[in-house]
Amino acid sequence: MRDTPSALSFHMPQPLDYHALFSALPQPCLLIDRSLAIADANHAFLHLSGRTSAIFGMPLREGFPSNPLASESTDLAALTASVAHVLASGQPHSVVALRCAIPRRATLGVVFDERLWHVVHTPLFGFEGAVTHVAQTVVDVTDITIAQQEPGNADDRLREGMMAARMAVWDMDLTTGALVFSDNATALFGRDWDSQEAMWKSLHPDDVRRLHVARLKAVEERGEYHEVVRLIREDGQGFMWLNVKGRVLCNPDGVPVAIQGVSVDITERMRAEQDLRDADRRKDEFLAMLAHELRNPLAPISAAAQLLKMPALNPEMVRKTSEVISRQVSHMTSLVDDLLDVSRVTRGLIALDRKRLCVTDIVADAVEQVRPLINRRHQDLAVKLPQDIVEVDGDQKRLVQVLTNLLNNAAKYTPAGGQLEISVTPSGPDVTISISDNGIGIPHTLLPHVFDLFTQAERTPDRSQGGLGLGLALVRSLAALHGGRVTATSDGKDHGSMFSVHLPRIVEAPDVSGAAARAPVSRRGDRRLRLLVVDDNRDAAEMLGAFMESAGHEVAIEYEPYQAMERARLAPPDVCLLDIGLPGMDGNQLARCLRRMPQMAETTLIAVTGYGKEFDRDTSIAAGFDYYFVKPADSVALVALLDRIDAI
Ligand code: ADP
Repeated sequence: MRDTPSALSFHMPQPLDYHALFSALPQPCLLIDRSLAIADANHAFLHLSGRTSAIFGMPLREGFPSNPLASESTDLAALTASVAHVLASGQPHSVVALRCAIPRRATLGVVFDERLWHVVHTPLFGFEGAVTHVAQTVVDVTDITIAQQEPGNADDRLREGMMAARMAVWDMDLTTGALVFSDNATALFGRDWDSQEAMWKSLHPDDVRRLHVARLKAVEERGEYHEVVRLIREDGQGFMWLNVKGRVLCNPDGVPVAIQGVSVDITERMRAEQDLRDADRRKDEFLAMLAHELRNPLAPISAAAQLLKMPALNPEMVRKTSEVISRQVSHMTSLVDDLLDVSRVTRGLIALDRKRLCVTDIVADAVEQVRPLINRRHQDLAVKLPQDIVEVDGDQKRLVQVLTNLLNNAAKYTPAGGQLEISVTPSGPDVTISISDNGIGIPHTLLPHVFDLFTQAERTPDRSQGGLGLGLALVRSLAALHGGRVTATSDGKDHGSMFSVHLPRIVEAPDVSGAAARAPVSRRGDRRLRLLVVDDNRDAAEMLGAFMESAGHEVAIEYEPYQAMERARLAPPDVCLLDIGLPGMDGNQLARCLRRMPQMAETTLIAVTGYGKEFDRDTSIAAGFDYYFVKPADSVALVALLDRIDAI
């Protein structure tokens, strides 16, 4: 029952109880008077709006409050404007989605629900024909509005699905030739077509006839057709591949009238298929080459076996033959090792033995391994290391393998006498190790694929050093396992190449004890000393040279005393590290000769010798040596000595 008399009851004709009817209506209704106060409301309205009859007599703005925490959660402005419009014009007016904050009792007090109402305001006229009240009827449209706005809407979903599948649908009128594409055609293909003829012009001429024939046949048989055609790109840069399917539609008399179809962009798939075909071809080429590479060493091994069968073979011949076998077997072993490594990396079977590593040590190890090849090819290797210790978290063996591969390639693909360089540059959180050469370079066409498995430049007869095309693929995978990457640049044929390995480095303050242990490898002096290492034991000379290089010095190596003198004459070094037991002229004699050269007056001579007993220290000092080290020389002490010399 109502609590207060309604203004409406005064105007209701009798005997029907219109007020009872108003109250009982299932449609929410509200009555507003000319002063914009709430005159009455039925049960349905009070229920919908979460209010009580206490709102009767209240101004609109009090009866329709906003959520105190969200101003304008009730759009009072739109509400009053609509009512005012009806009062002034005497015409109904509606608000399509009026925001309305609905109070609701909750455990922690009153909370507000935000709803959307479709509101219709209708004028009620008094006896004089003027508008006395405005009746408001309400439909809550919150759910339907949200449903319409949701992206899950069926039409939207279909449209998005078609875009994701890169598919457009079309209808073709067979009588007029008119063609209508779905509205995503421009987004997919860069343009739209309205006729069959226009479409033909956009296709590759070789495909037009095939499509035409398939279509005619389908029309004749009242069936379907399916063709893959090339669409010329709008910018003229190549093609898009389309998978076109059409189905012929007939009228009730069985006469073909239209074709309904779908065109799908399958360019990505075609590209992937082409890549697979290329990879398959490369694999075939690789197998042929592998067979060739593995058979090559077999010829000398089998000849050696025959030779060993010969009677009266002298010991020298046996030694040489056995060396041939060892060399060839070690070549085969390295090929097989590479193959196994690649297979392990591709199957994810390589586990890194990670440690805190000094990049200089890794470089020194790699240089040491490749030095024999570099020397054989009379190439010059510059090693550029930073002043500070740069550390990475990695697997020593694998990182050395990465650099050895790159350095080995640099030496292989650079003519004899060429220039190689390895440099270490810390930058931000990374360190870049670059290996460059002034060799045969890499053609632009090969460059993007140079890290792919089995990729190799054209093999020429003089390219005898080429391996199996596995090395760079391994380099890339191993760098990636360390969280790094590799890049390659080249200005093309005969313009050299540069490969860079970028690795994350350890940037926090280094471990003091570790740093101290490694300190001798990094250079403390300011000046890069020119060193000449002379030793007939190539391995010993190269190891010492690599160590000194990694300590930041410029190193030249000679294996023979007369060559050493010649080099000293042409380019006098700051320091000579001389072995004593040299062929032809011993180290003491060499020291005397060097001392007689005017350009060697300032040079420091250091003896590094295994002859601790035979050639004593005094003899060497008398010959002109400044310092004397017994093999195996303590490299750390040697570097420390060079630092002192540097400071003089
Ligand atoms: P390979 O066993 O043939 O050396 P890699 O994977 O190490 O295999 O190298 C792949 C190819 O990349 C080589 O065959 C060569 O054509 C090219 N390449 C690699 N390094 C260099 C370089 N420093 N200079 C020129 N070409 C290079």
